[in-house]
Amino acid sequence: MKHILIIGGGVAGLGAAFKVKRVADEGHPVTFTLLEKDPRIGGKIATEYVNDEWNGGEGERFVVDGGPDCFLTEKPACHRIAKLTQIFEDELPTDDSRKRTYILSRGRLHDLPDGVMMFAPTKFVPFATTGLFSLPGKIRMGMDLVVPKKQWSESERMDETLESFVVRRMGRECLDRLAEPLVGGVHASDPSQMSLAATFPRLLEMEQKYGSLTRGFIAARKKVEEMRRKYPPKPGQKRRTFFTSFSGGMQQLTEAMAAAAGRDHIRPGAQVEQIRRRDGGWTVTLSDGSALQGDGVIVATEGWAAEPLLRPVDADIANALSGIPASSSATVSLAFREDEIGIDMNAFGVLCPLAEARSLMAATYSSTKWPGRAPSGKVLMRGFVGGPHNQAIMRQSDDDLVEIVLSELRGILGVVGEPLFSRVFRWHLGMPQYTIGHLDRVELIEEQCEGIPGLALAGGSYRGVGVPNCIESGERAVSKLLGEWDIRSAEDGEEEKRYY
Ligand SMILES: Cc1cc2nc3c(=O)[nH]c(=O)nc-3n(C[C@H](O)[C@H](O)[C@H](O)COP(=O)(O)OP(=O)(O)OC[C@H]3O[C@@H](n4cnc5c(N)ncnc54)[C@H](O)[C@@H]3O)c2cc1C
Repeated sequence: MKHILIIGGGVAGLGAAFKVKRVADEGHPVTFTLLEKDPRIGGKIATEYVNDEWNGGEGERFVVDGGPDCFLTEKPACHRIAKLTQIFEDELPTDDSRKRTYILSRGRLHDLPDGVMMFAPTKFVPFATTGLFSLPGKIRMGMDLVVPKKQWSESERMDETLESFVVRRMGRECLDRLAEPLVGGVHASDPSQMSLAATFPRLLEMEQKYGSLTRGFIAARKKVEEMRRKYPPKPGQKRRTFFTSFSGGMQQLTEAMAAAAGRDHIRPGAQVEQIRRRDGGWTVTLSDGSALQGDGVIVATEGWAAEPLLRPVDADIANALSGIPASSSATVSLAFREDEIGIDMNAFGVLCPLAEARSLMAATYSSTKWPGRAPSGKVLMRGFVGGPHNQAIMRQSDDDLVEIVLSELRGILGVVGEPLFSRVFRWHLGMPQYTIGHLDRVELIEEQCEGIPGLALAGGSYRGVGVPNCIESGERAVSKLLGEWDIRSAEDGEEEKRYY
């Protein structure tokens, strides 16, 4: 029996654990133990349920997501896991009848113009009439149609920062007012450091293929529209929206994964202090001094947490890991009575570009975007603070973070009511930063791992921070180990099915 020790109980570690369980169910001699330092499983995925005590605590509840609140619908991994764990029916599309996004610019709120894809306008009238950009800014963005594409030499890795790419193609105003809050904000990343090849390689490819992002995105929009016409949703079929969540919050996914993998094999509150290779196998030592033996080890912690564990195993891997920075952030959720909040709740959220120099990076109208997040007559909002440009705010107390977010919501959106309750979730070094050179570091880590039997790394620090990417990274880590032991799973080589 091959025993895999999985370190880290976030969605990547759980993705690995559940894969091992499925392979074992096929009859292969393999098992796992998952070790998670926190008392709770799920890592950055965390949902809290708050009873509606303002209604006697009966019936309805608030569903408060503290980390991710959704995943990208087009990526199949979450759907596949949801099917396998029987929670597919609980997938929750956004309520697009109330879709509206504001961007703050020079102190005023503007609608995100219709037809903007990432940061490229694909519809002329909404772009021409928006007050979000100045006239010179619009002309500069339009020049994307004529700016020649960048020539890359064969020996060069096609990569540059988000800032250099957007400024080169569409001008600084597009970066400051649109690309930074929309694209940089999603990754909580600094556009002047962020590697495009590691985050949005499609943009670099699009420039090469179409010679212009506007042309590339117009082609992409037309393709989507054609597919929608060709394959209209079947009666009774769920709506396909850009983002998807779960009716019980994102933790419904990690709870289902833990249950399906087998809780007997999962040890919360087990902090790994040391990993050692031992004649063909591995020994992992916990903070209580106890040790476990395994045939393989999957390190599915944050990159910075993996670094000290792996230094005695391979200094090159550890050095590459130390080159992956991370930034801290917090989400602050606030509940209100609908008739007291004082603003129109028909919107998904507001983005605050760095150029506005606000403490708030963005806010989501959680109970509008996701039906069922608040009991009837109540609403839920969530603000984001921190990120690479404002690490200092993380030194504030929870009470102060609540005050800061509340005062930003009052100043920016005109919120007037007093919150019924608040919840603060802190994510210390929770967002890995894919800076220039990231792919070189990840390739080096993977090459070194190839030469070390029984070792694999997984998680959001490497090839995608999104929840589906993390699940796949955990599964790939298991495949690496199984391959070394000549264990062939029926799943391997199976093409990923599309669910929508
Ligand atoms: C505020 C926020 C919002 C986000 N929003 C979205 C979103 O909407 N959609 C989306 O797709 N993604 C989003 N992300 C990104 C996504 O949530 C993460 O990339 C993903 O959850 C990371 O999963 P993971 O398993 O790689 O790591 P983690 O969830 O960080 O899990 C790693 C685990 O390892 C444990 N660990 C560390 N060291 C040790 C040790 N020595 N011993 C034992 N255990 C250890 C940690 O306690 C942790 O539980 C968001 C992230 C944040 C922070």
